[in-house]
Amino acid sequence: MKKKRVGVLALQGDFAAHGTALERAGAEPVFVRDEEQLAEIDGLVIPGGESTTMLKLLHYDGLMQPLARFGREKPIFGTCAGAILLASEVSHPNQESLALMDLGVERNGYGRQLDSRVTRVDPDPEFERRSGEGKIEAVFIRAPIIRRVGSRARVLARYQGDPVLVEQDRHLVATFHPELTADSRVHALFLEKL
Ligand code: GLN
Repeated sequence: MKKKRVGVLALQGDFAAHGTALERAGAEPVFVRDEEQLAEIDGLVIPGGESTTMLKLLHYDGLMQPLARFGREKPIFGTCAGAILLASEVSHPNQESLALMDLGVERNGYGRQLDSRVTRVDPDPEFERRSGEGKIEAVFIRAPIIRRVGSRARVLARYQGDPVLVEQDRHLVATFHPELTADSRVHALFLEKL
């Protein structure tokens, strides 16, 4: 079977680790830096990093509209800062976004308690049904907290009761960094959407 080509937005942040994780999950990563490349890929990962900086670069490179258009047709997986960019509502402070998922997120919402931590999060039964059983190892780095999940979105894993992995139709967000652990179930779940 032909490998799926998955873009990784490579303007800022930890895009390289996503490339490795996608390869491990059986896809061919393409590091995306301009609009033309969007035509070559089946889905896109927006990595962690700093969402305000990423937004500035997206504007500078004229990528906001092209990405919003891409997301109306093809799957996007946002991790951490990428999740902030996909959410429809961003607080602390308020910030614009691509608004492709009906979610409310608060930046750095775990505060000092979870500035940076490796832990394990609890999969919901739906995740285990599709991806196999067992807790998910999760790295949190100045993570946003998901405060509101719209009615069309579905929670797939939680940490201390709060959603940390959520899907809405073709899109997926994680507030942790699945590209930094050996468990490739989350990337594999995204590839299922392509
Ligand atoms: N705190 C960052 C932000 O608000 C996100 C952190 C991350 O992506 N690891 O954009």
